[in-house]
Amino acid sequence: MTSLTTTQREHLAKIMDEREPVLRKEIRDGLKRMRVEGYDELLSGTSDAGDESLASLVTDVNNADTQRDAVELQDIFAARARMADGTYGICIDCDVAIPYQRLEAYPTAKRCLECQQAHEAKRSRR
Ligand SMILES: [Zn+2]
Repeated sequence: MTSLTTTQREHLAKIMDEREPVLRKEIRDGLKRMRVEGYDELLSGTSDAGDESLASLVTDVNNADTQRDAVELQDIFAARARMADGTYGICIDCDVAIPYQRLEAYPTAKRCLECQQAHEAKRSRR
């Protein structure tokens, strides 16, 4: 069970809704700067499937800023999917409700702070 109220969840959804067009624009501008062909249609697409493939394509692009934007955009899609299936705001590792303060700072968070830190420590040792 999530501890978020409807108002809180709507507020977090709004943060992501406002962030999405900013990311799209940054990705589009980044691709334009690199003169990557064939992305315009994907970028203007409105279907979810198109968005997902856009984001995964862009992660292949060799540009750190654009990649970061694409990952963040994918995180937004994933967070929306979790909102839809009712698992949003629950840590994927320990099943504990993620504190609202953390979600407000980082609406796409998949993990509570402790699990995130453990995850990153594990990754950096690899
Ligand atoms: Zn956790």
